[in-house]
Amino acid sequence: MRCTVTAVFVFLLAGLKTGMAQELPDDSGISALVRAVSADSLRSYVEKLVSFGTRHTLSNRTDPERGIGAAQHWLLQQFRSFSAEGKGRLKVTLDTWQQPADGKRVNRPIVMANVMAVLPGTDTADHRVFIITAHLDSRRTNVMDSTGDAPGANDDASGVAALLEMARVMGSHPRAATIMWVAVSGEEQGLLGAAHLAEKMKQAHREVAAMINNDMIGQSTAGGTDLQDNTRVRVFSEGIPRAETPAQAALRRATGGENDSPSRELARYIKAAADRYVDNLTVKLIYRSDRFLRGGDHLPFTERGYTAVRITDYYENYTHQHQDVRKANGIIYGDLTRFMDFAYLRKNTGLNLAAVAELAAAPSVPQEVKMDVRELSNKTRLYWKAPAHGRVKGYYVLMRETDQPMWQRRFFTSSETLILPYSKDNYFFAVQAIGEDGSRSLPVFPAIGR
Ligand SMILES: [Zn+2]
Repeated sequence: MRCTVTAVFVFLLAGLKTGMAQELPDDSGISALVRAVSADSLRSYVEKLVSFGTRHTLSNRTDPERGIGAAQHWLLQQFRSFSAEGKGRLKVTLDTWQQPADGKRVNRPIVMANVMAVLPGTDTADHRVFIITAHLDSRRTNVMDSTGDAPGANDDASGVAALLEMARVMGSHPRAATIMWVAVSGEEQGLLGAAHLAEKMKQAHREVAAMINNDMIGQSTAGGTDLQDNTRVRVFSEGIPRAETPAQAALRRATGGENDSPSRELARYIKAAADRYVDNLTVKLIYRSDRFLRGGDHLPFTERGYTAVRITDYYENYTHQHQDVRKANGIIYGDLTRFMDFAYLRKNTGLNLAAVAELAAAPSVPQEVKMDVRELSNKTRLYWKAPAHGRVKGYYVLMRETDQPMWQRRFFTSSETLILPYSKDNYFFAVQAIGEDGSRSLPVFPAIGR
């Protein structure tokens, strides 16, 4: 018995020494929510979405069984059924607008719509909004072909299914801040629905605290190289912010902050959420805003200065992406349900859920985080002000070496300043607020304090 106790003690000490390695079990109910995510439910949503034949943005809006209109109608009904189960907390709406022809991928004026499911925050003074999106529309090889079959099982019924499942699981578990799950339209025609949503948020001066775009999160095989991996998922984030001001650029250059944009901090946060809450899933941080020369629905948000990232399968399979369904030379092309991996989609859904459940429960970020540079010193002093929203138990000052991707150590304090015996020349620092239930805000990279 005594041996066992000693062993456990040594094990714990080892964990403390390595900083982040040992995590206490979470006490905010997030693990239970993640466990409630069902691969069977996800499969049923994807199969239903595929059954509409095509969800092309220019497809029929009035046919009750086929096309984007039927798919949107069904999605509304699904979200509404989860709203009923959650005692009406979830607010479900169809946001429609007139999209003019653009001479590119919209060849005539059309009516477009985003399907929105909003879980209002419990703290009415807290105006933060966390947005998770996926795109409902699908496409064929010819992006203007709006009539032929475009199943879009992985691209992006997988992401839409994740939105539905999160709404089902979390619909009766509101957090302090508001969460929006939005199935946008028109991604394949030029990120139109996401741009509409981002601009709407901006015009309304909404406090979008973070945005996560899920586009293809349920397919684990690589075309061409025959690789398979359902234990890793990519999170793309910008290093240098698209909407950076000249003053922010000057600060970035002066501090070496090119790897610490708010979106990069969000990506790290999501990676940490995988480690804490989702078994057998590791986030691979990709240091670029999206795939090589390609784009996605988070970009209209980063362009407007919001913190936003993209979550995508570790491997893409171009035999099944943007392809007409057909057989040629013994190969089956097309984005079909049979090529999906629902255990993988379950984990990636759980990852989204864990990140947003903690972010929306946590206090908002510490304000005016600054590094004291009034005198040269081998110590580092950071100071900040309390968050605008939420009750704070304390703060973590995070630290990592300059060549490391993830925060390596953290120091707890209940005060609003901390002096550490580590040189600011040799480490990066950030500060995050800790709520009374242990939930953590996004970390904030310090500005200069004189
Ligand atoms: Zn897509």
